[in-house]
Amino acid sequence: MSKPVVLVVEDEPDILDLVDFHLRQAGYQVHKAADGLQGLRLAQERHPDLLVLDLMLPGLEGKEVCRRLKQGQATRDIPVLMLTALASETDRVIGFEIGADDYLTKPFSPRELVLRVQAILRRRGEPQAAEALMRLGRLTIDPQRHAVEVDGQDVDLTATEFRLLHRLASQAGRVQTREALLEQVWGYAYQGYARTVDTHVRRLRGKLGPLSEQVETVRGIGYRWREET
Ligand code: CA
Repeated sequence: MSKPVVLVVEDEPDILDLVDFHLRQAGYQVHKAADGLQGLRLAQERHPDLLVLDLMLPGLEGKEVCRRLKQGQATRDIPVLMLTALASETDRVIGFEIGADDYLTKPFSPRELVLRVQAILRRRGEPQAAEALMRLGRLTIDPQRHAVEVDGQDVDLTATEFRLLHRLASQAGRVQTREALLEQVWGYAYQGYARTVDTHVRRLRGKLGPLSEQVETVRGIGYRWREET
């Protein structure tokens, strides 16, 4: 059994070493890069199973590294865990817009990082069941193509937004707690990440146009896909 390979791109030596140490302890093989260009090159050459990518990097910014990887035919499937020093909403959102699979805000605990890495790889490893096309009123979800339509018009969703919508719609009419959504959609269930769900629900609503109100907030509990009447 070969160990999964994680490429860590981080310009702060202390953090790079810390992350390296903990990932090795957890059984991963680790490659390291200290700037964006080197990170991009290593990702293209070695095709790691996952990339831990700092946002603020010398040379080529983490955002740009991620963008280029997601544009490359051979590298677009490499999942990216983004590290950011900025806790602001904007940067979190940017992380997802450019296709990062998850993010961690500094300072983070190494244990948390390892859990996130494990969750992303576990999610990736799950066989993608050939699920049937789902039609719910004006909404169509095609799990095989990862495509969504509202009134026959394509809706462009990120991978995370797609999973969130799919989960809500497949449980239509039933309330999903934030914790359950975190576990189902993100692959982890910790206290304190409810805002991650809220942020994505807000973005999802924004993209659903005429169906935005079908994602109903159930105060103090979570969210529910309201069936059209
Ligand atoms: Ca940095």
